[in-house]
Amino acid sequence: MSVFTNALSQLKKASTYINLPSRVQEILKKPERVLQFSIPITMDNGSTRVFDGYRVQYSSARGPYKGGLRYHPKVNLDEVKALAFWMAIKCAVVGIPLGGGKGGIAVDPKVLSQGELERLTRAFTRRLVPFIGPEQDVLAPDVNTNPEVMGWLVDEYSKVTGRFVPAVATGKPLALGGSQGRTAATGQGGLFILNELVGKLKLDPKKTRIIVQGFGNVGYYFAKLAHKAGYKIIGLSDSKGGIYSNGGAGMDPDHIMQDKKARGIIAGCYCVGSVCDCENYRSMTNKQILEAPTDILVLAAMENQITRENAGRIKAKAIIEMANGPTTPEADIKLAKRGVIVVPDVLANAGGVTTSYFEMVQNLQQYYWTEAEVMQKLKPIMGQAFKQVWQKAEALKVDLRIAAFVLALERIAEAIEVRGKY
Ligand code: NAD
Repeated sequence: MSVFTNALSQLKKASTYINLPSRVQEILKKPERVLQFSIPITMDNGSTRVFDGYRVQYSSARGPYKGGLRYHPKVNLDEVKALAFWMAIKCAVVGIPLGGGKGGIAVDPKVLSQGELERLTRAFTRRLVPFIGPEQDVLAPDVNTNPEVMGWLVDEYSKVTGRFVPAVATGKPLALGGSQGRTAATGQGGLFILNELVGKLKLDPKKTRIIVQGFGNVGYYFAKLAHKAGYKIIGLSDSKGGIYSNGGAGMDPDHIMQDKKARGIIAGCYCVGSVCDCENYRSMTNKQILEAPTDILVLAAMENQITRENAGRIKAKAIIEMANGPTTPEADIKLAKRGVIVVPDVLANAGGVTTSYFEMVQNLQQYYWTEAEVMQKLKPIMGQAFKQVWQKAEALKVDLRIAAFVLALERIAEAIEVRGKY
């Protein structure tokens, strides 16, 4: 099913629990602006390739559009629209004064040289210049983009406009005005949410078993920080497959990362230097790892991972959605019937955009905070958002996703209403 159709069905479902004016509902069914570009690039071998790039500016009711930039062969307008809509909801859930946007280029960055990637990013940025900036639309890293890409983007934007504008993107390198703590922020925010959830479920962190699907920026930092906090990471996976702990002993994500860097895969056995542990672990396919026994399943890869097809076989008590849109609406219904708690993406991964907001604030103030200051500000925002969503779910007797959407829609609707009708 189309990802944007999923997003709209979430909107429709949540709208039935509040008195959302029909005018607001109609406005939120469509993005405010859709930008689509074809971007010709001269490749290293002298040939020309033309890439499709998108930026969707979904809602600016509560502030400038805000959202990541994704490089992936499957990027398409439908997906970007859904992701932009979820950004608007997410910013409202955590109460930061930003709207929602998202962008992407349909490209496999792994087959491009660094030079080709930089030229593509700069060419895309030049097309975006009239439509982005700290008061219009602020970009950030997402799947397959990183601080380096944000550095090129800021540089190109600044060159074209003739002034240094670091706040046009967040998740930048520190030397260009990045924020301390931003790289790990989404994972760190997820850990704050995990702690709140474990408190509500009255679980003992030291005995709580966790599987993390996805071992990129979000999955790696989540797993690393959860391990450091004493949780048991019993399974990890990336796009090629995963590793699962036979006896539930847990693993150190940094060991797995070291091994992955050396061998290029996460497999059923890992080696750190010359010491290998091949007895206590086994390989699992991407399909198997989602269905393996665990207390908490953390989804930190891509959309549509838990579907009508596999929802009935999930053994976790709770799912934390660190990726955007990993559970389909049909799966949501099945999981709710089976009593599996789902902490939705718009709450669980909001630590990233919240720290991006801090980065913008620091850029605009020209005054920078320490990592401890950033974390001190992030923790209460995540904690409060979790509590507000949980209370809303109890009050309305709905799942956490509907509760988060209701909370966000109330806030977005208020901003739309006070802007007036004409
Ligand atoms: P990334 O490119 O750094 O990592 C993605 C990871 O997912 C990689 O390890 C990849 O191998 C793995 N993967 C892909 N398909 C898989 C599969 N079928 N099974 C297991 N693993 C698979 O991307 P990221 O920045 O970590 O983003 C991951 C998700 O989190 C995306 O949905 C993104 O939109 C969302 N997100 C990211 C941020 C952020 O700050 N980076 C913030 C909020 C949400």
